[in-house]
Amino acid sequence: MARKSPSAPSRRAPRHESPKTARAPSAPGHVVEPPPRPDKRPFDIDEVLGRVRESVRHFADAAMFALAARGHDSLFEQLVACILSIRTRDEVSLPVSLALLRRASTPEALAKLSPEAIDALIQPVTFHEAKARQLHAIAVRTRDEFSGTLPCDTQVLQSFKGVGPKCAHLSLGIACGHEAISVDIHVHRVTNRWGYVQARTPEATMEALEAQLPRAYWVEINRLLVPFGKHVCTGTRPKCSACPVLDSCRQVGVKDAR
Ligand code: SF4
Repeated sequence: MARKSPSAPSRRAPRHESPKTARAPSAPGHVVEPPPRPDKRPFDIDEVLGRVRESVRHFADAAMFALAARGHDSLFEQLVACILSIRTRDEVSLPVSLALLRRASTPEALAKLSPEAIDALIQPVTFHEAKARQLHAIAVRTRDEFSGTLPCDTQVLQSFKGVGPKCAHLSLGIACGHEAISVDIHVHRVTNRWGYVQARTPEATMEALEAQLPRAYWVEINRLLVPFGKHVCTGTRPKCSACPVLDSCRQVGVKDAR
């Protein structure tokens, strides 16, 4: 299975394209211009992401990137960790993922555990009972249908119960080096506040980003905007006065900022 380091996203860009020119091919979604604001600079995604990259340097990586950095970078491990992280804070899901993967990091090992035993190991995460059944079913199917190795195929991943585009794309991006955008609530909120996209749902944001975000950032945007959304562009009262991209951000929908 091909693996790429999550800490070197730029290497995933096609060699003949620069981030500034590597626009996505025709894809669903709308290409939008950020709303005009005479008090703001033209929105330059390269510059904005460069500043965000610098600002999150000292924050903890999002859980799946942190796991990959610790060696849990197979597609199976990443998918397991992503399922555990659904509706669960990284501070909770990361130690649970580490504990589970220490006990069973391969489909064969996880399939040998009962759903009840898996449930006992993942108690702190939300929906642990349902997730335990899903994880066990994924392990059994991977062992039996794919000879113990998940293929780097989004349709296969999304055929598993409990796996949607967010988990499939992020797992494939980290474990297989696929160019795939994973939009969680932070990526959705921040890119809409910037005015870079105008979309009501994470799914619509993903389509809009696929239409206009340079491919070199398709995996990295999640790694950058999860900590940025947690610590700077927070859900309530974002820290606009200390934000490194205040001069470019359209602050769409922001009414009460710090
Ligand atoms: S200026 Fe405010 S709304 Fe815009 S990205 Fe920064 S924190 Fe978020």
